[in-house]
Amino acid sequence: MKLDVPVIVAELHETLKKAGYEAYLVGGCVRDLLLKKEPKDWDITTNATPEKIQSLFEETFYENEYGTVGVVTDAAVQRLKVIEITPYRIEGKYSNARHPDEVKFSTKLADDLERRDFTINAIAYEPTSGEIVDLHGGKADLERRVLVSVGDPYERFSEDALRMMRAIRFSAELDFAIDAATAAGIAKHAQLLEKISKERVRDELMRILLSDRPMQALFIAQKLGLLKYIVPELEEGLGVKQNQAHSYDVFEHSLRTLQHAADKKWPLDVRIAALLHDIGKTPTRLWSDAKNDWTFHGHDVVGAHLAKKILTDLRFPKEVQEKAITLIRWHMFFSDPDKITLSAVRRVINRVGTENIKSLLNLRVCDRIGTGRPKEHPFRLRKYMSMVDEAMRDPVSVSMLKIDGSGIMALGEKPGPRIGWVLHALLEEVLDDPKKNTEEYLKTRTKELLSMGEEQLQKLGERGKERREEEDEAAVRELRQKHHVT
Ligand code: ATP
Ligand code: MG
Repeated sequence: MKLDVPVIVAELHETLKKAGYEAYLVGGCVRDLLLKKEPKDWDITTNATPEKIQSLFEETFYENEYGTVGVVTDAAVQRLKVIEITPYRIEGKYSNARHPDEVKFSTKLADDLERRDFTINAIAYEPTSGEIVDLHGGKADLERRVLVSVGDPYERFSEDALRMMRAIRFSAELDFAIDAATAAGIAKHAQLLEKISKERVRDELMRILLSDRPMQALFIAQKLGLLKYIVPELEEGLGVKQNQAHSYDVFEHSLRTLQHAADKKWPLDVRIAALLHDIGKTPTRLWSDAKNDWTFHGHDVVGAHLAKKILTDLRFPKEVQEKAITLIRWHMFFSDPDKITLSAVRRVINRVGTENIKSLLNLRVCDRIGTGRPKEHPFRLRKYMSMVDEAMRDPVSVSMLKIDGSGIMALGEKPGPRIGWVLHALLEEVLDDPKKNTEEYLKTRTKELLSMGEEQLQKLGERGKERREEEDEAAVRELRQKHHVT
């Protein structure tokens, strides 16, 4: 059988063979070739030792304890720039659920295939002869579209708990089912995930979120008991009933909201926000006799706090965190185009930032779909979007004012906090009335502001911030009342 192997990879393979070694493509690249997908990276396994491998190629690096030698190629394509060549390995003993106590090399391909995680990842391919070595039935499992552990799943997951995350991730990326015994192995050892570094869990979670089927994957993770070791707060939404606008409990609504973001191919920050936007609902839920329904006052504020904790714990990059948290904090923005003014729209834009406003609207779309009974007509959201477009032509941030810090200093002010207060006080006025954004008006107004006392100026400068803080405090107050703490 001939598979389509890039010339550069075939050449490396050839070099090993000419030197008298066995060499096979193995793992994800063979799996993906058989699935007619483009492999992410290329791995070669061989009976040559790391030292021998190094001696055969001009530029290599070898800085790990697993025997993997990176061969640097002159390929233009990123995924071919480094090809990893690893000697056949035999599985050593594992005592920490993370990695083997020692790494042992082997002279037999069969040993190497046996240590691999899933049958579909344990197929080797010899590009010169076209031979496929499939000792664990990987090809059949590819055809059946199921993920099966190599060997005894109980053992394999207790050796290395990350394999459980990989199972869920492959099921999401490939749309594969998880075989019953393999799933039982995960259910049995889920708790071992606590031993895995947060960074590695995050990397797998990120790939799940960025796949086409994050909802399916997280449902499975929940069913198998793995989710409570990934994002325990999510699971608390299970069975938590919502108000009448919703068909699903908080948990399912969150997953459906995320799935819509994936269906739309929206980026990671929107997907995270979709998944976590209602994470504050469970702790804020309160029955209202007056409404004869559940209420969740302040769940946006509480949710933003919880999301910060969750994303920090999982070591998500700062920038992704900040965007997602901003979207969660403001996801309850009022969007009735018939009742809202342009100045209110400008304030929403000012709060989330011009770079995030489209994402906030996209999150609202996901949220609507995630209810299972979208009540708002999409044309109303479109109308709101056109108001956003209109508002975006007006100044919505300090940097868009027709005066800046140096302009204020030119009027006699020294560097210091007063400059920031003036700028923010001016912005508050301009948000209400964009016509005031002229150099002439702002200069006149700056002079007036600068003549004010410290206290009064600070108060004006921090009015916008205060408004936001007041809203946050009101939400937290309600939460305290609910829990009868003062
Ligand atoms: P992708 O590259 O798309 O993430 P992959 O299957 O190639 O998928 P890699 O992390 O590149 O995953 O690993 C390459 C191969 O190494 C796997 O196909 C598998 O055979 C083996 N492998 C990786 N991680 C493990 C593990 N934790 N336990 C056992 N085998 C593993
Ligand atoms: Mg790979």
